Parts: sequence; structure tokens; C-alpha cells
Amino acid sequence: MASSNNYQPVDATITPRFGDIPTFMRLPHVRDPAEVDIALIGVPWDGGTTNRAGARHGPREIRNQSSFMRKVHHVSRIAPYDLARVADLGDCPVNPINLDDTLERVERFFAKVHAAGAVPLSAGGDHLMTLPIFRAIAKDRPVGMVHVDAHSDTNDRYFGENLYTHGTPFRRAVEEGLLDPKRTVQIGIRGSIYSPDDMAFAEESGMRVIFMEEFCDLDVAGTVAEARRVVGDGPVYISFDVDGLDPVFAPGTGTPEIGGLTTREAQHLLRGLQGLDLIGGDVVEVAPPFDPSGNTALVGATMMFEILCLLADSLAQRRG
Ligand code: MN
Ligand code: MN
Repeated sequence: MASSNNYQPVDATITPRFGDIPTFMRLPHVRDPAEVDIALIGVPWDGGTTNRAGARHGPREIRNQSSFMRKVHHVSRIAPYDLARVADLGDCPVNPINLDDTLERVERFFAKVHAAGAVPLSAGGDHLMTLPIFRAIAKDRPVGMVHVDAHSDTNDRYFGENLYTHGTPFRRAVEEGLLDPKRTVQIGIRGSIYSPDDMAFAEESGMRVIFMEEFCDLDVAGTVAEARRVVGDGPVYISFDVDGLDPVFAPGTGTPEIGGLTTREAQHLLRGLQGLDLIGGDVVEVAPPFDPSGNTALVGATMMFEILCLLADSLAQRRG
């Protein structure tokens, strides 16, 4: 499927990488999802945040830092723009002061992308945004998930009543039949919890929870093997919460937890997922107001490129 007609990033030998308008990976901004195989989408919303807000500013800064990304993965040698038509679809519509309206807007936007046959890779935004994405792309059948995060995000309610926060998306997704808990692996979970049974839903529903301590015992290779065993051959989504990383590497996030993955471990972990039947992904919780150096946004952009390479390879495998 290699094609020189595919969209390409702005050529850095003609326009330097610090110049011009920052789109994701310096790709063209294309509005019609039918024109792409992989849609890069910003979701600038953080109304599901329970502590430090700011992830609404994530997409713009990730776009800026993504100008550091080149065209070919240096380990796998995957060249995503030769394998697939990839472009920046811009930001998904959101309502900054209305959660229910935002859930509907995000679902509608991603449903159009899905109906056009494009695979979504988004930059958040807070982690609640994965729920309306699942409502759009997983309504036909539940999907599996590789979930990197310090938090399980399977809480029930917040302040007694709110069903929708960035701490609840995966409980809701299981309840709605969008996410198969038995094909879900959570990696890097850690930090103090509200009560001893905080992890009950994840564990009783059958999710494979790899706490940070077990990750250290298994190491990356053992974790990759376990993740691949859990998700199997079916469709899989990669959801990467940047707070899964240690705040030394990614301080710009709303709910930091020390003792996390290094960027190098996360890169090796993602590379180990090559060959899965990948149907989408996201990088969430990059909060530029807490990221004075811009490094968290660079980390977000780099993880996005890692996932993009996996998606392009998976797409090429499906096409045969
Ligand atoms: Mn999360
Ligand atoms: Mn988290």
C-alpha cells in the first residue's frame, strides 16, 4: 500500500521544523475523514478533571512539540506515511462548560470518522474523552484495551452523583458493553487509594491489573507478553495516560503519581505491541499549564508517534 501520493509531513529541508503552522506531525489539515486512513484528532476538553485542570490545552502543545517527529521509526523502520493516509483532522467540537453536551459532540465527531473507515488517534484532553470515543467506535462489539496509567479509572461516582469524570470512563465503558474487561490490561497502576476496595471493580470484572510493583518484577518484556496474552487476537485500543509515566518525565499532568514508568520503558512497551489488531488509540492528560519546559507535550507527541507507527503497521497487515 506504499504510495508516494499519501500525505507527507512538511519537508524539513524546505521549511525548518520550527517554522510554519504546527499541525500533528506537520501533516496537512484535512477535514474529510474519508480522505484518511488514520485520523489525528485533538480533543481540547478537561471538564472531567477532578483535581488540576489544564489538559484542554494539551492538543495545541502536542501539535507544537510533534514538529520534532520525523518520518520513520528508528527501531521498527515503520514508515507510517508510506503505509497509510494520515492527516490532522483538527480538533473535535467540545463545549467547554457542558459535560453532557461535550460527550455527545465527541461521540458524533468520532462516529463520523469511524463511519468513513478511518482509524482515530487522538490527543486529549482528559481521560473521560475515551468514553465517547468508545461509544463511537465500539458499539458493534466490545474492544480490548492496553491501558497505561497510574490510575485504573474505574471509579463509580464523584461527589456522590457524577457518573462522568476522568476517573470513571472504564467502568462506564464496561457497563455499556463497549469494553471487554477480560481483554483489558492496565499497566503502571499505583498511588494512594480512597479505600481498600478501590480496585474491586477492575479486578472483579476480570481486568488484568499490573500494578507498578508487578511491572518492576515482570520488566518490560514480561509485561508485553502478559499484555499480548490478555488482549489476544481481537480488536484492541491503546489508551495512554501520560501520568502512567513518572512525573520526573511527565510533570505536566493533572494527577501526578511518583514511582512510575520511564519514557524508555513506555516506548519499549508500546513497541512490543506491534502486530496486534489495533483499531485506535489516544494520549491523554497532558496539561501544559503544569509543563513549563514543554517536555510533557514532547513526551505526548512522541508516544503518539509510537502509537501511530503501530496503527499504520496494523492497518497494512489487515490489508494483507
Ligand atoms: Mn487516566
Ligand atoms: Mn491517570
